[in-house]
Amino acid sequence: MGGEGFLTLCAVFRVSPEPVGEPLLLSLLRRYRDALNYSIKRIHGYMEENGLKKTPGDGAVHGLLYEELKSRFGLPSRIAVDCYREAKAILKSWLGNGGDGRLPRARRPRMWLAEKQGYRVRDGYVEVIGGLRLKIIGWDRRYDQYPNRQAVLTYRSGKFLLRVAKKVPKPQPISPVDVLAVDVNEKYIVAGNHRVEYRFETAVERAVRYRELAERLQRKYSNGSYRAWLRRRGIRDRVRRFHEKARSIIEDWARKVSREIALTARRDGYAVAREDLTYLVESLRRLPRQHRTRLVLLGYRRFEYWLDWQCEKHGVPHIAVNPKDTSSTCPRCGSRLVESGYRRMKCPDCGFEADRDTVAVLNIRRKALARMGGSLATPTAPQMTDVPPEQMRGTSEPPKGNPRPLGRGGGQWATVSLNEGDHVAVFPFPLY
Ligand SMILES: [Zn+2]
Repeated sequence: MGGEGFLTLCAVFRVSPEPVGEPLLLSLLRRYRDALNYSIKRIHGYMEENGLKKTPGDGAVHGLLYEELKSRFGLPSRIAVDCYREAKAILKSWLGNGGDGRLPRARRPRMWLAEKQGYRVRDGYVEVIGGLRLKIIGWDRRYDQYPNRQAVLTYRSGKFLLRVAKKVPKPQPISPVDVLAVDVNEKYIVAGNHRVEYRFETAVERAVRYRELAERLQRKYSNGSYRAWLRRRGIRDRVRRFHEKARSIIEDWARKVSREIALTARRDGYAVAREDLTYLVESLRRLPRQHRTRLVLLGYRRFEYWLDWQCEKHGVPHIAVNPKDTSSTCPRCGSRLVESGYRRMKCPDCGFEADRDTVAVLNIRRKALARMGGSLATPTAPQMTDVPPEQMRGTSEPPKGNPRPLGRGGGQWATVSLNEGDHVAVFPFPLY
């Protein structure tokens, strides 16, 4: 998240290959990409040969790759150093995320530019080590006052882009009057508390469609006939694009829903609480690797990441609570709930009854309030103290005439009044 008091953001500049010329620059970025992928494999191989659990030190990596990156890939000395350093950093973060599946791999032509020594921006030009000069033709000025950190130069759809990391101070956090609790399941993100409830559809269904398209193509062309072989490269590219599309749908969705939630929380003076999904993610990881499971897993991870990030960015205090029993405990009296119809739960002791997601939201809020103790802004917020059960019950009623209040795919927006001053907004997240 960028350390105490700071956030790392990304500013994007469009650059033109003049005066070096496109063929020269593109050739360098392609060689860099190939050298990077080669380095990742080579360092990983070295770790396996030597039974290492961590990436080796700079000295060992230098000895392993430096000369070869220069001679075989034609990289200038400084760029060769940046290249193996980046390979090391990529491997490290891949290992940190569990290190399973295929080795990470750069697909697009690119080049990593180290902070300070790697490049500088001057007089409307980016000057890269080794004498490259690129004209800036599209300038992201939002973060101009902050110094440039490391950057990546990429080539995508005919354009050269320089993505510059910026360290930006975090905004002054709000003093929350209550908690907006966020519950996540395969179909919906539910954000709410005893007063409000917002539901967002997840992007899993949309992403699954692209995975299925990819699968169908793979099946169709996997009998090894002559024609299939001839067209293999084209098919492979299409399959890859479908997979990329599925991933980018999840990423866009996670970023946008979490932004919406963070902005709502900021506007209404709420802290954000979510469940700590680490254990859930771990148990899903052990399931058979079906497309759906993988996408749900990816969705959870990206949503967690973006929700925390957006809260930081918008100065919203946020915490993660233990998910144990959040959807099976009565939020009013603490008894164990029993199922009562489709996704509905009922308390055998006090009669409390609500939708499973609403139960989870109320319990997450309760846990968060207990953890946050007296840190809420009391004077302006009489409602911050735990609400009486009657009131809580009122808000947990489902909106009338909408038994599955989830506006599937219709794009409609509905606000349903429950009690005076309370509302439940129901809307599917817009498609991107
Ligand atoms: Zn109860």
